[in-house]
This record gives sequence, C-alpha cells and structure tokens, in this order.
Amino acid sequence: MKAVHETVGARLESPGFIRGEEVKDDAPSVHDEPKRIRWPSERHPYAGQSAVLATKHAKLPLIAPPLARAVGLSIDAVAVDTDTLGTFSGEIPRTGPPLETAIRKARLGMQAAGLGLGLASEGSIGPDPAMPFLTSDRELVVLVDDNAGIVIWDAYTSYDIVAATTTARPGDDLGQFIAEADFPVHRLVVRPNQGPVQPLHKGVDSRAALDTAIAQAAAAATDGCARIETDLRAHACPSRQPVIAGAAERLAQRVAVRCPSCSAPGWGCVDILMGVPCDWCGTEVDQPRAEIDGCPACDHQEVRALVGTDATGDPGTCPVCNP
Ligand SMILES: [Zn+2]
Ligand SMILES: [Zn+2]
Repeated sequence: MKAVHETVGARLESPGFIRGEEVKDDAPSVHDEPKRIRWPSERHPYAGQSAVLATKHAKLPLIAPPLARAVGLSIDAVAVDTDTLGTFSGEIPRTGPPLETAIRKARLGMQAAGLGLGLASEGSIGPDPAMPFLTSDRELVVLVDDNAGIVIWDAYTSYDIVAATTTARPGDDLGQFIAEADFPVHRLVVRPNQGPVQPLHKGVDSRAALDTAIAQAAAAATDGCARIETDLRAHACPSRQPVIAGAAERLAQRVAVRCPSCSAPGWGCVDILMGVPCDWCGTEVDQPRAEIDGCPACDHQEVRALVGTDATGDPGTCPVCNP
C-alpha cells in the first residue's frame, strides 16, 4: 500500500459544518434550524453515545477509531445499499454534490438503525479540480446529528491514489497496465468498451478472472475491446483507505473542539481569508491571511490571523510584479 504523505497529500480546504438552510434534501429534514439545545459543558456530548456508519464496503475500521479516541463516540456499521445513491462504476449515476450524497447516506443508516446520530463517507476520484493533470482522491466524512439538528464534516485530499484505465483485446500484453494499476492489490472493473453495459465484472482480483472478464466483455462489445479500470470501491482500492482514515481523523479533531460561545461540538475552520500585500508594490497576492473558525449550532465566529499585521507577500506570486 502506498503511504499517503500527511502534509503534502493534504490540501487546505474550507470544510466544516452546514446548517439546514444550506442542505437541499428532499427527505423530511430536521435541518430547518439547529435546535437550541443546551450543550453540556463539563463532558463531551458524544462521549459514550452510539452512532451508526452507513457502509456497504467495510469502512468501519477506517472511520470509527479516530472518533472513539477523540471523543469516546461508539460507532457501529449498518449495511445499507448506498449504491442507490450512485456507483463509481457508473451503472447508477451519482447525482448531487458529495456532501449532500454523504448526508443522504448517513440518514439511510440512521433510519435503518433507528438512531439520531450517524456517519457516512463519500469519495471523489478523478482529475483534480485545481490541477487537472493530477488525479486526486478527496474523501469527505460527515457526522449527522439529527437530535441536535447539526451536521459536521471534514475532508482530506490525496494525490497518491491508484486509478488506472485502459482498453484491451483478449491476448493483449497487459504487463505495463498491471504494474501501473497495482493489480491484484488493487482490484479491477472490466466491461465492454463500446456497446452494451453488461457483462460488468467488478472486484476482479486474479489474472485468470481478468482474462475471463476481458474475453466476455470484448465478445459483447461492438468494437471488440474490453475497458479495464481500477475498482474504486473502498475495500477494493487500498490506496483510498488511508485517505478515508485521514478525513475521519480530521473530522474527529473538529468534533472534539467545542464552540466557545454555546459549547456545541464541531468548532473549527470554516473559511480562509486570502490576500497579503506584496512586499514590493502592496498589491494583494493570493496567500492565506487568516482563518475563520465557526460553530455548527450558533452564529459565533472568530478570525484567527495566520500572518502578522506587517507581513508581506512574495513578489514572485504578485500579479503586478510578476504577471
Ligand atoms: Zn507586487
Ligand atoms: Zn456555537
């Protein structure tokens, strides 16, 4: 398994929390307004509580330990068919942004288990939005607390994701692709390249199974080719697993921190203020100046400066000095 570099792999994002009005959810939502509940101030509100993780693909060992360590939340998995919300292999298209999908998944689990506290994760793997020549894996983990009417989430991005794809005819030499795809450590999905969707083989994990799948897919395809891709489901794609664990760790750290105003869990960075004056000409360059911390349950926010008031930015990144 490739190690995910903790600092290089992580990118500053603006994660945090959402309140009901920002979540478009057809389900009867309790998120119209956070409930004005009184949070206990002495012990963490989730210590000793039970939550449910909606998962079909064995994410429990990645997500539960950080939350148990950080706040004493106990998490059990419930097997719900989260594929109804879309699949990586595309038979069921994904609709809606990842955060919305993750919240829906969490609520599927909460309904199945009859609990008001639930978690889910959602991955986005593909060309990086900021650097499209790189493939990134952004994993998001969400904690939905319908008892209190709050949602807390965090995310982690890695560029060490294995996501290979190729087309082949039966008998083609696949040596280079197999190395690039880290097969069979990473499993594969095989389907007809053009024409019918079936036969679709998922979780292909041996050379014999791969050859059979290619033969069947190529025979069904109108162009005689099979399309072979990394199976991106978490249990089939080991390079995703440390990224999911990284997102869960960040979520756990966020959940552990209490709002200084109302004591709700989930206090942390919700936005970044950009703009530091250029050292040469004073024009604002695109560097972080401060972070805004916020609360999932109340409107309290605090600005935390990242640089001193006399800080100046690098003229090399200045739009005037180095256009
Ligand atoms: Zn300048
Ligand atoms: Zn608060």
